[in-house]
Amino acid sequence: MKNPTNHTTRREFLAATGLTAAAGLVRIPPAAQAGIPVALPELPYPENALEPIISAKTVGFHYGKHHRAYVDNLNKLTASSDLDAADLGTIVRETARKPEKASIFNNAAQAWNHDFYWKSLTPKGGGVPKGKLAELAEASFGGTDALKKELQNAAVTQFGSGWAWLVLEGGKLKVMKTSNADNPMISGAKPLLVIDVWEHAYYLDYQNRRADHVAAVIDGLLNWDFALNNL
Ligand code: MN
Repeated sequence: MKNPTNHTTRREFLAATGLTAAAGLVRIPPAAQAGIPVALPELPYPENALEPIISAKTVGFHYGKHHRAYVDNLNKLTASSDLDAADLGTIVRETARKPEKASIFNNAAQAWNHDFYWKSLTPKGGGVPKGKLAELAEASFGGTDALKKELQNAAVTQFGSGWAWLVLEGGKLKVMKTSNADNPMISGAKPLLVIDVWEHAYYLDYQNRRADHVAAVIDGLLNWDFALNNL
């Protein structure tokens, strides 16, 4: 015996939903967001791990609001573009210095820079660069203290929002500062370490005293092992 039940049910369903005539064209709608979204990386330590130099409150806002917003905005901007499945580094390189892609670049580079920034800090950081990094510091700056002084100077003198970087360029160490979202890899240098000098990085704890914040970060938080591994 045939099974009229399923047949009836389907016909009734189509009639009820007004899809009878278009039944042959019914498709499952695509996922709201195609591609592979860029993920917000986990913090390498708890939010209070950088205290007392950087408070849990600052890290909470900086990571949980600012960093997250760059990642979320980026995913919205790329969702329906040809970059919807590209990795973060590719998006940064592909959109750099293209005025019509500035919004994507700004959010992608900020997402990249912040991931790199959290890794550039560590609760038991500071001290001096060691190993190959110390040798390069000697050759490029005349020593590790001179390197640290150069980094401090770049971080303090960056006008407005931006970043102070230790990079490798042409086999030598170099200190660079960049504005807003810019990143040294756009100009061919290899980032080794970074300090965020946007006000959101320090204002809750240090208000306008950027120099004090930077000095404390260099003395107590910089992750020289991370820089060494990036060589
Ligand atoms: Mn920041």
